[in-house]
Amino acid sequence: MRPTQRLLQVLTASPQRPRTIGFIGLGRMGSPMAHNLLERTFIESVGNARFVVCDARTATADAFVADFATEFPRVEVIVASSPADTVLASETVITMLPSTPHVRNVYSEAGGIIPALRSLPPDAVRSTMCIDSTTLDVDVAREVSAAVHSIGATMVDAPVSGGVTGAKAGTLSFLVGGTKVEFGRASPTLTLMGKNIIYCGGSGAGLVAKICNNLVLGVQQIVVAEAMLLGQRLGLDAKVLASVINSSTGACWSSSVNNPVPGALPDKSPPCEQDYEGGFATRLMLKDLGLASDVADSVGSPLALGELAEQIYGDVVREDPELMDKDFSSVYRYLRLAANQRSG
Ligand code: NAD
Repeated sequence: MRPTQRLLQVLTASPQRPRTIGFIGLGRMGSPMAHNLLERTFIESVGNARFVVCDARTATADAFVADFATEFPRVEVIVASSPADTVLASETVITMLPSTPHVRNVYSEAGGIIPALRSLPPDAVRSTMCIDSTTLDVDVAREVSAAVHSIGATMVDAPVSGGVTGAKAGTLSFLVGGTKVEFGRASPTLTLMGKNIIYCGGSGAGLVAKICNNLVLGVQQIVVAEAMLLGQRLGLDAKVLASVINSSTGACWSSSVNNPVPGALPDKSPPCEQDYEGGFATRLMLKDLGLASDVADSVGSPLALGELAEQIYGDVVREDPELMDKDFSSVYRYLRLAANQRSG
């Protein structure tokens, strides 16, 4: 979608652009992140801020604006019809998209951020900062960032750790790749959505850190599911087993926070308590393990467990497509069914 010439003039000439923040991608993570960012910016700016949001699904953006308006009737939130319109109206733009093709689409294709930046006056380009929090292919992220920089704007990769719970609570960790100056410039915005803002190195370094972390997480969630299943099949109570693991050397987030067995964590409410809804989708974990395999291949680093985990999550979404959008801890449900079928 191309912005009309008239709309372009209205948006770029707007004196409000410097105090406008744009957010693109209002999914499970983006929606609570945008909510915190808008709420806290509005409070800190004493009402002197404006917001633009954009999602490929217009209904999602409309619902976000309607919910926000109920809570904060005085805050102006505009739905942009394209990423181009978002950046034309906003000096700071945050993107939180599913993966590589979506980032390419939003930044590089017609109606995207990069073509729109080319149409802005040099001063407006120089003051523009793009923060991409998507987990995507490192090389593509670096290409997009290089294209943004070649026009004269700033861009950092800032993928997140902490899940939907952290996004809602504003306690995410941001793993940032860019120059130190860019890190300093992005940090005040990121602080409004997270607790730990970690500088990882040059462009793409935040993504390398994120992909390595999710490699550990993806493998761990499977082995916790296997151990919880094995223990129960040998007669142990799930609560007892979880409390032993969580106070022993097997302790990890996948067991102590995201335990996949309903009832195993009586004082917590992991996704398994809501039929695995609302966490980190299995399809996204499969995607992240694919990203890990690709970068590992490119530098000849061994990934035996990572590749096996990728294969298992691949089997989960192929054999039980309902689990594709459920939390990746639903691998437990898949393994339990397979075990029941095996034992008749
Ligand atoms: P999601 O699929 O719930 O949300 C993505 C949103 O982007 C959707 O609303 C979709 O409509 C929108 N979108 C897609 N293409 C678009 C386009 N071209 N233009 C505008 N909007 C577009 O995904 P999510 O769970 O919010 O995850 C987002 C990113 O964060 C992923 O890269 C994921 O790997 C990463 N992540 C997710 C979690 C988690 O727990 N869900 C945790 C850490 C990191």
